[in-house]
Amino acid sequence: MFEGLTERLSGVFDRLSGRGVLGEKDIDEALREVRVALLEADVALPVVKDFIAKAKESATGEAVIRSIRPADQVVKIVYDGLVEMLGGEEAEGLKLALNPPSIILMAGLQGSGKTTTAAKLALRLTRTDRKKVLMASLDTRRPAAMEQLATLGKQIEVDTLPIVAGQSAVDIARRALQAAKLSGYDVLILDTAGRTTLDEQMMAEAAQIAQIAVPTETLLVADSLTGQDAVRTAKAFHERLPLTGLVLTRADGDGRGGAALSMRAVTGLPIKFLGAGEKVEALDVFDARRVAGRILG
Ligand code: GDP
Repeated sequence: MFEGLTERLSGVFDRLSGRGVLGEKDIDEALREVRVALLEADVALPVVKDFIAKAKESATGEAVIRSIRPADQVVKIVYDGLVEMLGGEEAEGLKLALNPPSIILMAGLQGSGKTTTAAKLALRLTRTDRKKVLMASLDTRRPAAMEQLATLGKQIEVDTLPIVAGQSAVDIARRALQAAKLSGYDVLILDTAGRTTLDEQMMAEAAQIAQIAVPTETLLVADSLTGQDAVRTAKAFHERLPLTGLVLTRADGDGRGGAALSMRAVTGLPIKFLGAGEKVEALDVFDARRVAGRILG
């Protein structure tokens, strides 16, 4: 992820450190190049503008120009700006309820990686956190999606709610809640139905389920390869559904990283995880500092 940006930025910083003493003009020029690099990485324009304005304010101070290694100071300013853009310092991870079961509601477009991510989270919760997890698919229109979750559940040895034909999504959600309570599950993961495009009915259904289930976490799964479309999708969902966080999938194939860099600023929501491959183990906790460090190489 971010390979393009890393390459561009390292070029900018190399040129800058080659200069030794820096004037305001050098810093201005470097920040102009950083701006182009961010835009080429497909970061949303308002996010880029804000980033550059803040970086400029910090970088053109006397302290930077007079410092022993001004170029390093500029790198530090860009690093700090990236950390902020990505949502601060702390890795958030999942929040769980004090009184189980914790409910995790998964929303997103069809094909975004929602069902795979549900299984990845279930695996992490069982293996790492030793939680007893139940998963349920609410996708009544696509029996294949329900079967996919059941198959993944078997593969990772996590229970899935038995499929009952003909039930509505609301009925299934109620049945899942009851099963989770009665059978002492720590976590219930509800996988809502997706559609291939933003669709009012899909979002209304997810919102209705959220009202019934009162989730501890409502996560939007978005495909980072779709760039600014992923950001628009997240924004649209968040207007209908009280999301608590984001999961960006296909980070493994995303050389630009524009969605990841814009998401936090545009939606105000934390990125909690990155999907890093098709395998059920391929899920990374999102950590702004680590990611910013990786961008700067
Ligand atoms: P859903 O329709 O949103 O439930 O999407 P699926 O979970 O069925 O995923 C669609 C496809 O994307 C599947 O082939 C997954 O294996 C693949 N996929 C999901 N997450 C990732 C990821 O992080 N990286 C890669 N490379 N593929 C992923």
